[in-house]
Amino acid sequence: MNSFKDTYSQLQMIFTRKPEMCPYCGANHIIRFGKYKTTHRYRCMSCRKTFIPITGTAIYYIHKKHKFLQFVSSVNEFGLKSIIKTSKEFNISTLTAFDWRHKFLLSMPLENNSLYRDLGVNNHENKYSQKGRRGTKVFIKSNFQNKKLPDSNLIFFAADYVSKAKLINIGKLKPQFVSRAFNDLNYQKFNLITTLDHDLVNQAIKTKICDLINVVPSRALEYLSLQTLDKFGINFSDHIKKTMRGVATKYLSLYANYFRVYFNRQKYCLSEYMKKLSTWPEYTQMEKFYKTFMHNYSEVKYNNPTKRKWKLWHRFILCNFEYVY
Ligand SMILES: [Zn+2]
Repeated sequence: MNSFKDTYSQLQMIFTRKPEMCPYCGANHIIRFGKYKTTHRYRCMSCRKTFIPITGTAIYYIHKKHKFLQFVSSVNEFGLKSIIKTSKEFNISTLTAFDWRHKFLLSMPLENNSLYRDLGVNNHENKYSQKGRRGTKVFIKSNFQNKKLPDSNLIFFAADYVSKAKLINIGKLKPQFVSRAFNDLNYQKFNLITTLDHDLVNQAIKTKICDLINVVPSRALEYLSLQTLDKFGINFSDHIKKTMRGVATKYLSLYANYFRVYFNRQKYCLSEYMKKLSTWPEYTQMEKFYKTFMHNYSEVKYNNPTKRKWKLWHRFILCNFEYVY
């Protein structure tokens, strides 16, 4: 746990550590290339771009860096507070508070999906929401019969604790959507335990997982992993409704991943949040990926695009945006 006093030394540490790879292209052949203020500048021998240790991290392009670390430290200790409360506490605009929150959420370390013998998988439904988006009109794609707002589907995985949450589609669950959740799992021998429809899961994993041993449909709570998922689902719904007062579907998987860490009672140290070199490009390209997601996996039409623009986002090559969409 970090106290506020530590953030100065933490900031210095984050600024001076040697990057392991190029934040732009991911190559690991990098050399020192002069100085930048109190730290070194580096150059990638593959794409020739130069960068400093914080390039691409959550703190990149943040003016009040020290304050941002205090914010991260505070969330780590006390959990997320409302945008209004955050803006007052740190004396920043609500837009900055909004940016900081989502940069923090994107910077959270991800679980390495290692091997479990019994892996539980379940779906969690949330009504499609455009909370906070300007322009409130929602258009349902014409091939969608039921004109009510559809649910967004989050697939959760759990063994002893919840290891993954992924937003797979908006609307009816179909095998091709469910299979998206299995994309980056380790396909070793394990028992897949679920209360989801058997045919649906079988079709979804047919081409993806070769070593499926068992899918058990009923008697969910006899299984530890499904108990964990059940408890997590109830707590997450509660968190969204009561604490967050609703979450926009665009950000749902970010909150699910945050809540997963909170629920598992994991703690990270401050510098771990500043390790992910794709936080800033993910943040600035989120709308682009959301648009693609809505186009491919939603029964609701993509509309009311956000107008905000960031310079230089196109310098970064992003190939893995799996966990958000
Ligand atoms: Zn590079």
